[in-house]
Amino acid sequence: MTRVALDVAQTPSLEPETNLSPGAYSHGVYSQPITTVPALQLRNLTKRFGTKPAVQQLSLSVAQGELFAFLGANGAGKTTTLRMIAGLLQPDAGDALILGQSITSAPRAAKSVMAYLPDDPLLYGKLRPMEHLEFVAGLWNVPAAEAEQRAQAWLETLGLWGNRGELIEGFSRGMKQKMALAAALIHEPQLMILDEPLTGLDASAVRQVKDLLQEYTQRGRTVILTTHILEVAQALSDRIGIISNGHLRALGTLSELRAQSGESGSLEDVFLELTREDSAATL
Ligand code: ATP
Repeated sequence: MTRVALDVAQTPSLEPETNLSPGAYSHGVYSQPITTVPALQLRNLTKRFGTKPAVQQLSLSVAQGELFAFLGANGAGKTTTLRMIAGLLQPDAGDALILGQSITSAPRAAKSVMAYLPDDPLLYGKLRPMEHLEFVAGLWNVPAAEAEQRAQAWLETLGLWGNRGELIEGFSRGMKQKMALAAALIHEPQLMILDEPLTGLDASAVRQVKDLLQEYTQRGRTVILTTHILEVAQALSDRIGIISNGHLRALGTLSELRAQSGESGSLEDVFLELTREDSAATL
């Protein structure tokens, strides 16, 4: 049997390790946004592989309710950053705070309020969709009746309800991506870390996912996503961070990035301008 998609769901926490009031939790997750604390703070986050720097002293802050797009060329350091935030990779230096909780010193509390969708999600192929979602919900201590309701709602939202009788192993790539997304969000986390969530989705599914992410942030929850589809990033994001060769190259709203780059066009134009010198240096 393969691993479940939600790596960070393996250790759902029922108790905060520091600073959280017990009332902040419901089934191991926050029931309400804590509006004064940033959803995510990166402080000099750094990672090397051997002698090769992958992420270098990355610092940024994402407010609750933001939809933040983390962009960069292949190999820029996006996935490495997200894996450190999710607690799957130990930073060499620096830290990531999730709703004020350190992923290095309070990992259970930090993980309990976030979901991580990896870029290569794995699912239990021998389960059917409801079984899979209810299983993952159970890891998060979501009550069974609530889990069933949420699982059905997700399958209907993502157009998989008609496939509920089938084994996941027979699903297409896009269907599996939808399942992985539903599994990542089944416990209604405050912070979603989504690595290429639109991979393999058709146009209709991309629209569904865009709508649901926007709806999620409108409820005060926070989404951080990577994508190479810059039109999507432009349409969805409140702010954008551009990483290049492991460094944060630019950060801000599209207007702010336009001002920084001197490029008045699309996000694609702005992105290419801001990363032009770095791309040339690596050729
Ligand atoms: P892509 O858009 O292609 O997914 P990315 O921005 O997510 O790229 P990362 O996967 O974070 O890039 O990789 C950043 C750098 O770290 C690359 O140079 C990559 O080769 C290196 N790297 C990542 N993981 C490892 C690893 N496990 N061992 C060695 N090097 C690694």
